[in-house]
Amino acid sequence: MQYDYKYCPICKNKLIIKEEGGLERKRCSDPECEFVFWNNPTPVLAAVAHRDDEVVLVQSIGWPTHWYSLVTGFMEAGESPEEGIAREVKEETGLDCAVGPLLGIYEFSQMNQIIIAYDVLLSEGEIIIDESELVDYKIVHSSQLRPWPSGTGQAVKKWLSQRGIENEEMGFKKIKKG
Ligand SMILES: [Zn+2]
Repeated sequence: MQYDYKYCPICKNKLIIKEEGGLERKRCSDPECEFVFWNNPTPVLAAVAHRDDEVVLVQSIGWPTHWYSLVTGFMEAGESPEEGIAREVKEETGLDCAVGPLLGIYEFSQMNQIIIAYDVLLSEGEIIIDESELVDYKIVHSSQLRPWPSGTGQAVKKWLSQRGIENEEMGFKKIKKG
């Protein structure tokens, strides 16, 4: 996320714009205080969560009803990326899983995030979505699964290509004006 912080979280003085490390950044206005708001991208974990050839896509609360994406979530302090994505899969689908190989690392600059995506094998059982985060899920066979332009979609594309599948990429729907 892009945050518009105004005050130093250490000493409560105002933040000012100043060059730090070659770029203009927000830093504390008190020269005695060393706080700089670096605004580094946040790591987000993603799973191409599947059983054999069937991939589970989820819809978050508030998304348009035709949008489905991968299971994703923020990494917690003290866990490895593999532990983090297993936890997110369990929280969002109710299922245990085996975390397989890394699919790739993708930029998501609009949200100041980087996406770390894994191939994740779901265990058997009923999917019970986390209704505090999700409204729906769907199961899509790899032959019908079309990648989309953003980072999570590129992880899907990689996962498909590892199976020798090249499905046409979806475009983002253009919103008609007027
Ligand atoms: Zn300060």
